[in-house]
This record gives sequence, structure tokens and C-alpha cells, in this order.
Amino acid sequence: MCLFCEIINGNIPSAKVYEDDMILAFKDINPVAPVHILVTPKEHIACVNDITAENSKFVSHIFEKIPEIAKSQGIESYRVINNCGEDAGQTVMHLHFHIIGGVEMGEKIL
Ligand code: 5GP
Ligand code: ZN
Repeated sequence: MCLFCEIINGNIPSAKVYEDDMILAFKDINPVAPVHILVTPKEHIACVNDITAENSKFVSHIFEKIPEIAKSQGIESYRVINNCGEDAGQTVMHLHFHIIGGVEMGEKIL
């Protein structure tokens, strides 16, 4: 089972900030900013390349909930990041979106 499936199943502990029947949001173990949350579907989808018409409801639900999750962490301005594949730096092959904020990031993406 992949690392985030283990976290979703509760086999590995995490600092949860939001959970419902479709998604889990928890604090990144190695935060790059004052707020750094990972939002994952509870169904295993490896990366953006594996999003389909059947499972895209998890992705739309994640984006419906991101504003609420961010607000619960005290931010209304933030960056949402997804790394897809090795070159992009994806290290956990279970789809997740980083919510990063609480610091001024400027206009440059990279
Ligand atoms: P990626 O590089 O795949 O986009 O992001 C993976 C993220 O997962 C990294 O930011 C890393 O710090 C985080 N991470 C890796 N292992 C764990 C863990 O066991 N618990 C938590 N909460 N975050 C983790
Ligand atoms: Zn998984």
C-alpha cells in the first residue's frame, strides 16, 4: 500500500486538518511555508495523468474544499501546487495538491 493510502487508512499518523468520505487533508511533515497542507483523494490515483471521467469527482471535490481548508488554517491567499511525475519532483505517487501560504511568495512560479 502506498504511503498516503497508509495515512488515509490511519496506519501511519498524520496531523489531519480536514476529512470527509472522499478526501483527506493533513499537514506536510516537512513544511516549506507557515501553512503547508496536502489534500488527497481517498481513492488511490497515482498522479494527474491517471485522472479519468470516473475518478475526476475526487479532484473536483478537492477543489471545492480547498478554500474552506485554507480558511481553516487562517489564509485566503495561497498557492496550490501539484507535482506530476519524476521530473516535476513528485515523490509520493498518490495524487495530492499542496496548499502553501502564510508567507509572501511573489509573482514567480519557479
Ligand atoms: P511531492 O513531492 O510528491 O509533490 O510531495 C510529497 C510531500 O509529502 C512532500 O512535501 C513531503 O514532505 C510530504 N511527506 C512525505 N512523507 C510524509 C509523511 O509521512 N507524512 C506527511 N504528513 N507528509 C509527508
Ligand atoms: Zn495511495
